Amino acid sequence: MTQKGKLVVITGPSGVGKGTIVKALRAKYPDFFLSISATTRYPRQGEVDGKDYYFLSRVQFQEMITNDKLLEWAEYTENYYGTPRQPVLKEINKGKVVILEIEVLGAKQVKKSFPSATTIFILPPSIEILEQRLRGRGTDSEEVIIKRLTKAKEELAVTDQFDYQVINDTLETTIDYVESIIKVE
Ligand code: 5GP
Repeated sequence: MTQKGKLVVITGPSGVGKGTIVKALRAKYPDFFLSISATTRYPRQGEVDGKDYYFLSRVQFQEMITNDKLLEWAEYTENYYGTPRQPVLKEINKGKVVILEIEVLGAKQVKKSFPSATTIFILPPSIEILEQRLRGRGTDSEEVIIKRLTKAKEELAVTDQFDYQVINDTLETTIDYVESIIKVE
């Protein structure tokens, strides 16, 4: 692939604020292309198919894997999540900054297939604060929160495998920092 644009991967544990950071970047730079992922998890209240995610059945997701339609995918707390390949390649070829907001295994896959991608790992100030944030969102059951926290501990052990590590302490500072990384890159 001749790469004209820029692929930026924002990763880190669930609840760390990736979504908020990405939304803020999009608001400031409407030209950035935010990839819409496919998932087998059920929509949360207010989530819209085709906007927040493409909500698929397991069979539909499996078909996307079989037909090589995903740039990367991973199983995360018993659901599948993946990045549709075609829109990402199309936007990069147009010269756009393309942002993926994905979990750690997928981020590693992307770096392998696109070594020029910039990978940014967002860390919480502490695991306790992450737990507070996950509970504060009020979107997940206790069982799901525990699974996400367990997963977060595994994810936080491999932060050094990414190009940049950013602690999300104050949101504004984090956004400024991520923005400056994208500009430098
Ligand atoms: P949530 O269920 O909270 O929306 O997402 C759970 C986790 O899956 C988050 O860490 C989120 O960043 C990640 N995720 C969302 N989309 C994708 C994707 O396309 N690929 C991968 N590997 N992870 C994703």
